[in-house]
Amino acid sequence: MLIMTETRSTCPYCGVGCGVIIQSDGKQITGVRGDPDHPANFGRLCSKGSTLHLTASSVVTGQTRLLQPLQRLQRHGPTQQISWDHALDLAAQRFARTITQHGPDAVGFYISGQLLTEDYYVFNKLVKGLIGTNNIDSNSRLCMSSAVAGYKQALGMDAPPSCYDDIGHADTIFIVGSNTAYAHPILFRRIEDARKTNPALKIIVVDPRKTDTADIADVYLPILPGTDVMLFNGMLHLMLWEGWVDQAFMAAHTSGFDALKTTVRDATPELVAQICGISQADLLQAARLFAGLDTRDDSNFIASSADTTRATGRKPTLSLYCQGLSQSSSGSAKNAALINLHLATGQIGKPGAGPFSLTGQPNAMGGREVGGMANLLSGHRDLGNPVHRREVAALWGVPEVPSQPGKTAVELFQAAADGEIKALWIACTNPAQSMPDQATVRRALERVEFVVVQEAFASTATCAYADLLLPATTWGEKEGTVTNSERRISRVRAAIRPNGEARHDWHIATHFAQRLEALLPPRMPIPETGSRTLFPYTNPESIWNEHRESTRGRDLDITGMSYAMLEQAPQQWPLKAGEQQGQARLYEDAVFPTPDGKARFVSTVYRPVAEPRSARYPFSLTTGRLRDQWHGMSRTGTLGRLFGHASEPVVALHPQDLAKLALQPGELVHVTSKQGSIMLPVQASAEVAVNQAFIAMHWGEEFLSGISATGQRLAGVNALTTSVFCPDSKQPEFKHSAVKILKA
Ligand code: SF4
Repeated sequence: MLIMTETRSTCPYCGVGCGVIIQSDGKQITGVRGDPDHPANFGRLCSKGSTLHLTASSVVTGQTRLLQPLQRLQRHGPTQQISWDHALDLAAQRFARTITQHGPDAVGFYISGQLLTEDYYVFNKLVKGLIGTNNIDSNSRLCMSSAVAGYKQALGMDAPPSCYDDIGHADTIFIVGSNTAYAHPILFRRIEDARKTNPALKIIVVDPRKTDTADIADVYLPILPGTDVMLFNGMLHLMLWEGWVDQAFMAAHTSGFDALKTTVRDATPELVAQICGISQADLLQAARLFAGLDTRDDSNFIASSADTTRATGRKPTLSLYCQGLSQSSSGSAKNAALINLHLATGQIGKPGAGPFSLTGQPNAMGGREVGGMANLLSGHRDLGNPVHRREVAALWGVPEVPSQPGKTAVELFQAAADGEIKALWIACTNPAQSMPDQATVRRALERVEFVVVQEAFASTATCAYADLLLPATTWGEKEGTVTNSERRISRVRAAIRPNGEARHDWHIATHFAQRLEALLPPRMPIPETGSRTLFPYTNPESIWNEHRESTRGRDLDITGMSYAMLEQAPQQWPLKAGEQQGQARLYEDAVFPTPDGKARFVSTVYRPVAEPRSARYPFSLTTGRLRDQWHGMSRTGTLGRLFGHASEPVVALHPQDLAKLALQPGELVHVTSKQGSIMLPVQASAEVAVNQAFIAMHWGEEFLSGISATGQRLAGVNALTTSVFCPDSKQPEFKHSAVKILKA
């Protein structure tokens, strides 16, 4: 007799981190519902989360999952089944040979914000601690690295200071570069609830596209793509001019304002209106609302020095922001310029106020916490800091962590395309679709001598390049933890046994590492027993315990957070040993983790997009998400009902542009950038401004084929996007490419 059970877990899709209750019969997942006790969602789920069980059904699993290790003797040739032992031995031998012949920097690892924290921890230690290279980066580089850089530059640490409850406390919500209604739907429900509770709540939305999120705005600023820094500098210019800044907060708790004052002096309303393509009146209104001053009839508002007196009794402003700021060649400056506004107005560290980045992936935060990227180390430490390197080496029991910076995502694939990276391990991500400039990425995957793909799904574009395919478990089968956007750590729990021969990601990394240890020269003297390993893990909790010890004394100290505590309820960090509850909001004492305890204004200079529109490429292309799809569709694309909202890829253009190009809706067009070209139907959309175009990011090669400038076969919108990245965060500019559009 089958016994129905319920298992508490977390949704694997986005950074909201909703709690779910999985129903199963012991063999199969049969249902899912929102966890009423989880503080991220209180029982609610969006269209993606509420259909999780359907994408985990046995029919879908049988059709889509990678269920046994496979070897390919020739690139793109047929696969043959091999045993786990054979597969891991082969991987260890090939990596050991490459390291021995070419050095540790000849191998690279590209992992994922979809991995659990424990998975991430093992990979990071394997690469930096055992192999001795920093060539490990994550698709979180494409997601939040500019937010990390912005927080660190301005506040001293990568720590989002706000929490979801702040939505209910805010009097103004400033949403910028985020289609929250689609990308973080349950958080958007909270914004709608907040407005019902507080009809005086003002919502400002900044986005080149008039999205469903923009539809609820009191003030909508349709800035031209990439002009955010100019907007924020212009808002600060007005705040300074009108005396709306919080002089007392700035004097006591910030530094660096004088340099910034010089930078924003030239951002006059006239110039900002011209560069950003908005009206001066809207700019003024946004600046005053953000400052938290009187919200009288805005249509009649005329700024004057008399408004200075209203700086007292300031109302709280919360900023919510996402990839529109971060996926940019000036992503770090955009993040820092927004935080400048919070520091100038004291809008931080109090209920309803603060800069709050929304993470795209379910565990981009956890990856940052364990330092699973090319420039980071465990416990929010920095690779560039010799003290931090020594601390981590001591924690891991290795002589040193190498100081040579690792290659970030774009750099890693460029190095592979150049022949520098000879063995590549890809886990839980699909770079052959999701990375920008697909032509370079596919050239890299062709050139690398040995490619391992560790993946739950068999049909991702990257799988076609694998010499070795290792089947990984996925949601419903995995155990571990994830951290959501508000620093809340939740347990992920298994409801059923792994399908087929799939193994857990931490388990695969651990057993590969143990084999590699035996093949590489020992990093430390081996005891007489000969049993020493840097990877003694038997379950996720043993990894968690090592990870949490690595956070002792750091900003994210979770030494008080055990698996037993997380069994009771999810918790926010920090939560030190002896404490019973995490910290909901940071910087309430206005003391920041910088040498002098003060937050830092960053002198943010506006720079235009990397590929400006031109006579040859006259459209600005932006990319983004659909409501019901997730990433490369490996899970959501298996369910017909999730295509009801958008059934096929389209390029959306303003009706005036359709008329100008003599196009009818539905006609096929070639969309071409310097990188490549794709062909798809055109759609008339008033959401998109004139001279702009929008294509959703999700569609892969089954839906949207293309070709590179040199004739190579490509797929998806990233055939078009540029790999130019922010110099500070190394995050690429997905949000703008210059394209031309011609009738097919
Ligand atoms: Fe899952 Fe995000 Fe939807 Fe919540 S909002 S159910 S975390 S996809």
